[in-house]
Amino acid sequence: MPEPPGELPARGYRNGQIASWLYKKGAREWSEMTDLPRRLREELEREWRISEFALVQAFPSSDGSVKYLFTLHDGSRTEAVYLPYADRKTVCISSQVGCPAGCVFCATGRMGFGRNLTGPEILDQVLAVAHHQGLAPREIRNVVLMGMGEPLLNYQNVAWAVRRMLNKNALAMSPRRLTLSTVGIPRGIRRLAEEGPGVKLALSLHAPDDETRRRIIPTAHRYAIAEIMDAVRAYFDQTKRRVTIEYTMLRGVNDHDWQARELATLLRGLVAHVNLIPFNPWEGAPVTGSGKKRIRRFAALLEEAGLPVTVRWSRGVDVGAACGQLALKEG
Ligand code: SAH
Ligand code: SF4
Repeated sequence: MPEPPGELPARGYRNGQIASWLYKKGAREWSEMTDLPRRLREELEREWRISEFALVQAFPSSDGSVKYLFTLHDGSRTEAVYLPYADRKTVCISSQVGCPAGCVFCATGRMGFGRNLTGPEILDQVLAVAHHQGLAPREIRNVVLMGMGEPLLNYQNVAWAVRRMLNKNALAMSPRRLTLSTVGIPRGIRRLAEEGPGVKLALSLHAPDDETRRRIIPTAHRYAIAEIMDAVRAYFDQTKRRVTIEYTMLRGVNDHDWQARELATLLRGLVAHVNLIPFNPWEGAPVTGSGKKRIRRFAALLEEAGLPVTVRWSRGVDVGAACGQLALKEG
């Protein structure tokens, strides 16, 4: 079956009407589109589906965030998270079912790889979450590609969804409000820089040295930090957007003083911001998180070296909705 909101079905100005229903008003049924001729609506109903999800389940956290579990039409499942920060409603979306990268600290990595999500499946997470929150799609002010999967290993479909989010006739988002987080795939970063949607880039670095990085991130055997950083610099040169460096704090692995100093040296000259992420625990994880004192000390060392740094105290930990906890466990 064709997949709107993939390619829109009607021609000419009807497409504009349909886009307005889908992206401005957040319609989830063809029958809602009352200004379309009835025959067209019936035809659309028969031949085109609006939602990519056969089932949507919501798991509210005590802190206000909500984890959504989506069952796709082929029975695969994926997850997104709604984060109602006061001034900017944010949705964290997935790009793949599971993830082939297999980082040892990440529950998604542990579950293995299912399949790539299609462009419409990636986009529809935003529309479905907005709908369930009683919001118009454009009220979602921020989207972060930080759910399940490695977006740059599903480049084309992610790029399709990103273009739809930025498109003036679709979600009309500002590229500054869309963040793509990657484990560090140099050719993907360069391609994104060249094709120029100008979204914000977050790099999951997690270690300043290749040896430590290879202990926790299997793809680090293929791509050295120097090669990744070259691509990140190219991204900055092209977009002039400050890059976020993500760093999940793992006890006794990457949280030593010397690693903070080495990180500061590595990032010297780059317009970057370091985001320290306390480890979000999951059952069977082979690593543990650094304590609060250690995280503060690590942050202080980076600050002393002149790096902007924040600590991302995660939301949704109690329902398994925090970064790296998405692994299709219910609630
Ligand atoms: N695949 C992409 C995006 C998804 S993961 C990437 O790796 O960047 C989003 C962020 O959560 C990444 O920085 C990732 O390293 C981090 N993360 C994964 N598991 C985590 C965990 N258990 N606790 C804290 N952060 C985690
Ligand atoms: Fe994949 Fe990112 Fe998890 Fe690594 S941290 S396994 S790249 S989702």
